[in-house]
Amino acid sequence: MTLIGGIEAGGTKFVCAVGTGPQDIHDSVRFATTTPAETIAQAIAFFRWQKQPVAAIGIGSFGPVDLTLNSPTFGYVTSTPKPGWANVNLLGQIQQAIPVPIAFDTDVNAAAYGEYRWGAAQGLDNFLYLTIGTGIGGGGMVNGDLIHGLVHPEMGHLLIPHDLEADPYPGHCPFHGDCLEGLASGPAMKARWGQSAETLPEDHPAWELEATYIAYGLVNLIASFSPQRIILGGGVMSQPRIFDLVRRRVQAFLNGYVQHPAILQGIDRYIVPPALGNWAGVLGAMALAQTGIGGG
Ligand code: ADP
Ligand code: ZN
Repeated sequence: MTLIGGIEAGGTKFVCAVGTGPQDIHDSVRFATTTPAETIAQAIAFFRWQKQPVAAIGIGSFGPVDLTLNSPTFGYVTSTPKPGWANVNLLGQIQQAIPVPIAFDTDVNAAAYGEYRWGAAQGLDNFLYLTIGTGIGGGGMVNGDLIHGLVHPEMGHLLIPHDLEADPYPGHCPFHGDCLEGLASGPAMKARWGQSAETLPEDHPAWELEATYIAYGLVNLIASFSPQRIILGGGVMSQPRIFDLVRRRVQAFLNGYVQHPAILQGIDRYIVPPALGNWAGVLGAMALAQTGIGGG
């Protein structure tokens, strides 16, 4: 049996796992993202301590990252504002310590691929995966291929309508202020309402506003990509009412224009949580490694 390693390299935490799939995780660990030196050393140590060595590793990383195969900085975390992490050779340091094939992609493309392989996107060729958490990011597939591009998509930085009278909060994105992430990430909710998202009561107006911003973002993405399904993960989406609020607004903002039963009648199966839950990222990284996608 060939064991595969996965690394979900997040800006807040790292998750590492060894196994063959969702029903067969042999070992896993999660730890806080501190300095690159300390964090990367912890990931390397986890794989070195395994009784059976892994045959390949997949990494899904927070970004921005360099995904251009022949670039001198391929596998680097590039211009992140996260202190200490700009221009860090994440892939190279792990590759040097553990000489097996290593697949590398964004955290959201990894999670998307995990959902494609084992979760809510099985059998689909066109779908999106977004996380609404500390940041907002998106990945997914177009015509059966994970989406890459000039760099990679930055779906969290969509510019969306912002009624400053209804919501005077200016947004917290250091680059754009009130982009989607600036208005609707977990930290934006905390800054606007003065308390963390998870402590805001279910009937708080915060959730209506949050759902409105997310729905604006999704309508733009539906118009751009025509996804067959949209998977929404991340801490903010654990709020019990939010999926329904988002679904109704997506229907309202589209206003009947996209004439497909998936949206008109089947919206509950169109905008869904990840079937793999919190494991989508690390399992997706393992799936990337099994398929040899984005090889380092
Ligand atoms: P990260 O994006 O760092 O990987 P998460 O996806 O867990 O982490 O997102 C963290 C954010 O989600 C925080 O801003 C937190 O306030 C928010 N959050 C976590 N749990 C909930 C919850 N049950 N309801 C609403 N928001 C939550
Ligand atoms: Zn932005």
